[in-house]
Amino acid sequence: MWIPVVNPQLCIGCGECAQICPDNAIEIVEKKSFIDYNRCTCCGVCDRVCRYGALEVKHPQMPAILEEGVQLTGLKAEMKTLKQKLKEMRKEVRL
Ligand code: SF4
Ligand code: SF4
Repeated sequence: MWIPVVNPQLCIGCGECAQICPDNAIEIVEKKSFIDYNRCTCCGVCDRVCRYGALEVKHPQMPAILEEGVQLTGLKAEMKTLKQKLKEMRKEVRL
């Protein structure tokens, strides 16, 4: 499931997201948008209304997915090196 996440550095507290949220899940506190995830139904409307790029819809597992991707890339590079070594070893055996 994807969830809206506020970037407090970009949020100016205009309140447009809070006004449009159909579930009243957003509150403006000290000029920043706060999302009550117990109310949020992840409709994504707030993400579309924010003109400041302060709201992003993200997958909560995204860091783990990205980390997995990095690990896979690392493994591919490692396999390539191993294949190359194997190729060289085979050449040496034949000599
Ligand atoms: S619409 Fe964007 S800038 Fe305005 S309060 Fe919501 S998150 Fe902040
Ligand atoms: S995703 Fe929808 S329900 Fe959740 S905070 Fe944004 S507008 Fe409200």
